[in-house]
Amino acid sequence: MAGTQQPEVNIGLVGHVDHGKTTLVQALSGSWTDQHSEEMKRGISIRLGYADATFRHCPDLDEPERYTVEQECPDGSPSEPLRTVSFVDAPGHETLMATMLSGASLMDGAVLVVSANEPVPQPQTEEHLMALDIIGIDNIVIAQNKVDLVDSQQARQNYREIQEFVEGTVAEDAPVVPVSAGQEVNLDLLIQAIEEEIPTPERDPGTDPRMHVARSFDINKPGTTAKDLAGGVLGGSLIRGELEVGDELEIRPGREVEEGGQTEYVPIQTTVRSLQAGGADAESVTPGGLLGVGTGLDPSLTKGDALAGRIAGPPESLPPTWEQFTMDVDLLDRVVGNVEDASQEGDAADIDEINTGEPLMMTIGTATTVGAVTSARSGECEVKLKRPVSAEPGSKIAINRRIGARWRLIGLGTLRE
Ligand code: GDP
Ligand code: MG
Repeated sequence: MAGTQQPEVNIGLVGHVDHGKTTLVQALSGSWTDQHSEEMKRGISIRLGYADATFRHCPDLDEPERYTVEQECPDGSPSEPLRTVSFVDAPGHETLMATMLSGASLMDGAVLVVSANEPVPQPQTEEHLMALDIIGIDNIVIAQNKVDLVDSQQARQNYREIQEFVEGTVAEDAPVVPVSAGQEVNLDLLIQAIEEEIPTPERDPGTDPRMHVARSFDINKPGTTAKDLAGGVLGGSLIRGELEVGDELEIRPGREVEEGGQTEYVPIQTTVRSLQAGGADAESVTPGGLLGVGTGLDPSLTKGDALAGRIAGPPESLPPTWEQFTMDVDLLDRVVGNVEDASQEGDAADIDEINTGEPLMMTIGTATTVGAVTSARSGECEVKLKRPVSAEPGSKIAINRRIGARWRLIGLGTLRE
């Protein structure tokens, strides 16, 4: 049965809006959301869609025909499972770039979906590729989608445009696989490319578990009486170790507490009451896929993504909490994406040095936080955050600046010790 195996790797689906990411995920995963609780399903698919798929093969067939997601091979014999993967379907809309960036920290590799019937690159094609570059995701497969809408000459022209576009980027050597997600053409080739290019990372099950929290929920129906109330639920991914029902859990930064006019963040302690992975309840979970963690927390603490961007793990094992930090800064050469709206003020497509006093939006892991630059020098700056984050020194930071009407990706930061 599909969905009973926990996924072992997270694969991002990135690319411009309408290029076919969601259609592709559906083609590869079938009736994927059936087994998830309604609340989790609704919650996660709005901001960060996810779906699990079990890649299978028919050992008697040649490549690529042997790869499939069907239970039955063309000759009627049963197919054998290879591995279960979890797709993180990033929203392509430009205003959701922050969501894409926070989802990217959960990706072990990515499929960049590019429509064959439009010029390359479209704004979010470029922006998402830059984000992969910045976060350091270099296991990439490019799906040249909608080939059913073009003739072979247009397909070849589009293919050349894709190759030109990725030259010198992290996707330079990525295979380009022509597919039609809508007509389910060449999915076997795509699965083969994913199997080859996006291996399951080596995990060390002996280390302390650490979870990146991407969502949090109150799953109780309005009016539930106190004695029937289910504890708060965390949604996210384990990046290492193994988590078990009954484990003690600390969440950092915790919750905001006011004392004598000062606000402070106090770590939250709870226990793991239930686990959900790969669409099923589990006693223990390992990295890969998006998890639901039922806790003993008051659900008002987890309601409406209140704990999104936090880190969870055994007490005393978590990285420091920063209210301000210094980061090394590596700026992009120019603004990518929709340059028209970025260049309203003359040559704004070029990226100027960061200035003292300017606000920045930063994504660190699944956390997105706004801060003001308190001191800027060439190649580094110090920021004071509105809301603190918990992160290891050396963490990568996607830096966004307000240009025109929205936040634009301008560079990579590295958190200093
Ligand atoms: P997303 O915004 O990248 O998630 O794109 P969607 O998956 O929502 O697809 C956008 C539109 O393109 C929908 O109307 C799909 O039916 C259509 N579409 C997706 N893949 C294909 C394809 O391979 N061929 C054709 N003809 N249409 C497709
Ligand atoms: Mg979509």
